[in-house]
Amino acid sequence: MTIRSTCPYCGVGCGVLLQDDGAGGLNVSGDPDHPANRGRLCSKASALGQTVGHAGRLLAPRVNGVDTDWDSALDRVADTFARTIARHGPDSVAFYASGQMLTEDYYVANKFMKGFVGTANIDTNSRLCMASTVAGHKRAFGTDTVPGTYEDLDQADLVVLVGSNLAWCHPILYQRVLAARAARGTKVVVIDPRRTATCDGADLHLPLRIGSDVALFNGLLAAIYEGNAVDTAYVARTDGFDDALTTARCSEIEPTGLDVETVHEFFRLWIGTERVVTVFSQGVNQSSSGTDKVNAILNCHIATGRIGKPGMGPFSVTGQPNAMGGREVGGLANTLACHLDLENPAHRSAVRKFWDAPRIPDAPGLKAIDMFKAVAAGRIKALWIMHTNPAVTLPDADAVRAAIAACDFTVVSDITAATDTARLADVLLPASAWAEKSGTVTNSDRTISRQRAALPAPGAARPDWWHVTQVARRMGFARAFDYDSPAEIFREHAALSGVAGALGRDFDISGLSDLSDGEYAALSPTRWPVAAKGGGRFFADGRSFHDTGRMRMIAVSWRASAAKHARRFPFRLNTGRVRDHWHTMTRTGTSPRLSAHIAEPFVEIHPTDADALGIGPDTLAELSSPTGTAILRATITDAVQPGTVFAPIHWTGETAPTGRIDALVADVTDPHSGQPDSKASFCAVRPFAA
Ligand code: SF4
Repeated sequence: MTIRSTCPYCGVGCGVLLQDDGAGGLNVSGDPDHPANRGRLCSKASALGQTVGHAGRLLAPRVNGVDTDWDSALDRVADTFARTIARHGPDSVAFYASGQMLTEDYYVANKFMKGFVGTANIDTNSRLCMASTVAGHKRAFGTDTVPGTYEDLDQADLVVLVGSNLAWCHPILYQRVLAARAARGTKVVVIDPRRTATCDGADLHLPLRIGSDVALFNGLLAAIYEGNAVDTAYVARTDGFDDALTTARCSEIEPTGLDVETVHEFFRLWIGTERVVTVFSQGVNQSSSGTDKVNAILNCHIATGRIGKPGMGPFSVTGQPNAMGGREVGGLANTLACHLDLENPAHRSAVRKFWDAPRIPDAPGLKAIDMFKAVAAGRIKALWIMHTNPAVTLPDADAVRAAIAACDFTVVSDITAATDTARLADVLLPASAWAEKSGTVTNSDRTISRQRAALPAPGAARPDWWHVTQVARRMGFARAFDYDSPAEIFREHAALSGVAGALGRDFDISGLSDLSDGEYAALSPTRWPVAAKGGGRFFADGRSFHDTGRMRMIAVSWRASAAKHARRFPFRLNTGRVRDHWHTMTRTGTSPRLSAHIAEPFVEIHPTDADALGIGPDTLAELSSPTGTAILRATITDAVQPGTVFAPIHWTGETAPTGRIDALVADVTDPHSGQPDSKASFCAVRPFAA
C-alpha cells in the first residue's frame, strides 16, 4: 500500500509517497501529484527512510527521570500547572511550541493557553524563522498574507534571492528556479554576504555587508521612481508612498559596501523586468532590522504594482514545515487564531464566543527571547516545551539552558530524551514521530497538505494534540477539548476561520469545515484562499486587509545591527544551515548518508584573516563571544568576507569540535517582530589549543 504524506523538513512542503519496506521501515519517494515538488525530492527527504527507526526513542512518560504511566505523568503536569496558575496567575506559565508541530497540534495548544489558561505566553521557534515577515506583511497588507504562489517562480523572468541559500535550504524550489532558467531564460540574482551554493546558478551575486538590505532596497525604490517605473494607478490605492519614497531618496548605498556598477546593474535588471519575484528568507528575517528589511522589499513591489500577478511579487519562503500553519492558528504570542488580532476587541470577542472560553488575554504574551528571560528571572514557573530544543537553538543558548534547568517545573514533549532540552525536563512526554502521526501542514505558498501516519507509534508514544487535550481535560476543560481525532480539530479550526473571514480577514478555509472523516482522510493538497479566482494570489487589485482597504508602504531607514561591538570581539558571526542536516539533527543525524555530507561543525574564515590569526585549513579554531564558546574545524575560503565568519547551526555536544554556535549569538531582537538577530553577533577567533 502507498500512503501519501508530506516531507517533515523545510517549508517547501513537498509531497512524499510512503511504502512499507517489508522490514518495519519505509521506502520514501516523491509524490508526482503534489504541486510543490511534482515527484522530486532533495537529499534530506530521500534519506527519510533511514530515519524512522526506534533507536533513541522515548517510549514511556518519565517523571524526574523515572519511567511511569500516562495517568501519573499527565496528572503531574495538570496539577502543577493548575497549582501554579492558582498561586501566581496565568502569566506564570508558558508554552514554547514549534514549526514542526502539525496544524491540529498547534491549534489545540494555542486554544489551551490563550482561551482556557488565559495567558498569551505561548510562542514558538517560528519566532526565530519568520516573525519579521509576519510583522512586515501586517504593516503593508493588514494581515500576514503571502501574496504569491510557487507557480510565480516558474513564470518569472527574474528571480531575486535575498538572504536565502535556496540551493541548500529549499532545494526543490531552487530546482524550479533553475528549470525556469533553462526553459525561459529566467535571470537569477543572489543578494547574500556569503557566496553560497545558490550563487552557482546565478547571473549576478551582490555580496552586500551583513544587515545592509534596507539600504539596497531603498536605493532600488529611489531608482524605480527616477526611472519612471512607478505604477501610478496602483500607488493611487496605496498609503505611505510619499514618505517611503522621500526616505528612500535620502538613503545611501554606502552601507552595503557594494560597488556602484554592480548595484546599478541589479537596479536596471529589476526595473527593466516586469515579471520579477523577490524571494527572501532568514538573511532578511533574522535581523534586528528584519521587519524593515521586509517592508523595504515589499515597498518596491507595491510601488511598481508587481504583486499578486503571474510571475511577480515578494515571496517569503519559510524555514520550517509548518511555520505557516502555526501562523494560521495564531501560535505566536502576539497573534490570535485564524489571522485575527489579539489586541482587537472585536476579534477577541469573536474567538472567545466561538471557543466558549472563559477568558482571552487582551495583550501580547512573551515572545521567545523574553519568555526565556522570564524563566531565568523566575517569573515563569511552569514551562511546556514541545518539539524544539531551545537549550541549543536560542541565542545566548548557555543562559537559556541554565534558565530551563533552574525553572521550577519543565515539561518536554518530544520523540527522544536525548536532546539538551529534554535532559532538563521534570516530565517527559513521549510523542509520535513524523511517520506515525496524522494532521495537516501549510507550506510557503499557502498549500495545506495532509500528513498521514504510515507506521505505528512505538511504546506509549502519542500525538501532540492528545498530550495537550489530556492535560486540558484534567484542568477542568473537558468539554472544550473533547476531541478524538485530528479530523475533529481540523473541522473546528476551519469553522473558526469562517468567523475570521466574516470579520474581513484573509484566512478563510471554512469551505473545509464540513469535511467528513473520509474526506479529511483523502484531502488532497489545497491552497487557500479555497476556490479562489485568479490563481489563488492576493493584492493584484491593490486592495489590502487594512480597515481602509488600501495598501501601505512603510518608510524605513537603514540602521546598524543592534549587536554590540567590542574590540575584543572583532569578527562578525553569520550563521545558517547546511544542505543535509535539519535543526539539531535529532532526525537527520540518524542517517549515515546525510551525516557523511558534512561530518562535523566548521567555521568558514577568509584566507586573509586565517593568515593573520595563524589558522590553517582543517585545524581547529576557537570562537568566543561575551556569551559563549565553540570549537570548530576551520574552512579557509573567500566565500566569506574579510572580518566575517560563518558557522552552521546544527551541532551540539560538549567535546571538541563542538558547534553550539547559538551560545555565541547575542540575544538582540527586532523591535517590531521580536525575532532574534542571528546573523550579526560579534566574536573573537583564534587557533584552538587543546
Ligand atoms: Fe523536504 Fe524541503 Fe527537500 Fe522538499 S525541499 S523534499 S520539503 S526538505
